[in-house]
Amino acid sequence: MIHPDTRLQLIDDRIGNGVVAARHIPKGTVIWMRDALDQVFERERLAALPPTLRFHLELYSYVDLDGTLILPWDHGRQVNHSCEPTTTTIGNFLEVANRDLAPGDEITCEYGIGFFTIPFDCTCGAPRCRRDSRAMPSEADFRRWDAEAADVYAHALTVDQPVLASMTEGQPGAWILKAMRERRPITLPSWVKGATAADWHDGPSDS
Ligand SMILES: [Zn+2]
Repeated sequence: MIHPDTRLQLIDDRIGNGVVAARHIPKGTVIWMRDALDQVFERERLAALPPTLRFHLELYSYVDLDGTLILPWDHGRQVNHSCEPTTTTIGNFLEVANRDLAPGDEITCEYGIGFFTIPFDCTCGAPRCRRDSRAMPSEADFRRWDAEAADVYAHALTVDQPVLASMTEGQPGAWILKAMRERRPITLPSWVKGATAADWHDGPSDS
């Protein structure tokens, strides 16, 4: 589910549509959260689709850490990639504003943590643009994403979180969403230490 204070807008003729903030949204606000309405496609189901539907599914879905394709049900599926995005991912099921967003600011995310469906040559223009989406993120990228996730999590405990109201028991990462809603500091799994889908989705086994 995408934050209610966002809307779809034509960014430019090259990029096409994207999602922008409709109002001021402070750093630390959850912009998008995977929820129970999002569609989950196993690889076999993708292969059985006609080519046109498969194309649309690959264009608008992302690959979760467990290899399934997730198709967000609202305009969250139209958030564009940037190598210096305005949101930071937590475990691939949560995108959190990593800066204060003003009305009209584009909401972008890093496709390379999750793993995009269609490879692309990035032209986002960021100084640290990784250019070829097929290139594996470097250790420095993983370290930066760990630091950014810890930073946005800390901010998330201090702001209103309308999106979290839609969380359901048992959804991937519920342990993180719950802690965030209760404004409880936790240590997040680490990309650089190779956290698995289970680490992100289910949390430490002793919790
Ligand atoms: Zn880029």
